Amino acid sequence: MLSWFSGNDVGRAGDSEVKRTGCWIIGLAGVFLVAGLPVAGNWARRHADARCALDGAKIDPIFEVRILDAKGQSHEFCCVPCAQWWLAHQEETPVAIFVRDESTGAELNAASAYFVRSLVTTKASTGDRVHVFRDLPDAEKHAHLFRGTMLGDSENPFHFACQE
Ligand SMILES: [Zn+2]
Repeated sequence: MLSWFSGNDVGRAGDSEVKRTGCWIIGLAGVFLVAGLPVAGNWARRHADARCALDGAKIDPIFEVRILDAKGQSHEFCCVPCAQWWLAHQEETPVAIFVRDESTGAELNAASAYFVRSLVTTKASTGDRVHVFRDLPDAEKHAHLFRGTMLGDSENPFHFACQE
């Protein structure tokens, strides 16, 4: 009998120990969640409010061009022509130029991207019709659907800037 009682007591003690640990983990997760919310909110706001460094237009993330200048500063643009115009007035060659794959939104180096000029405008105000793709099949598909032309290496909008 004695051993049954004591066994039961141990069992109960064990249960409350588990509960306490569980509460502690949930509490900690809550602290991280609350602490993380403003950061996530700021990021989302900053991204939603991202403006083109050239014309101040709102940047549609899918068409964003980002240039890392010689000083390591990042500059974001709403479309390819804005980035080109800005680049034309820079004395120093940028460190890197990043574009976004129109299919996935993934950022990639402009040097390895496929560019297609099609009938579809990306931005009305600049009349930009250059589309960017990471994968060749996506670029070819867009060109086929929207009467586009694949831009060769020499026609790559960032051809000169991308050169080593
Ligand atoms: Zn712009």
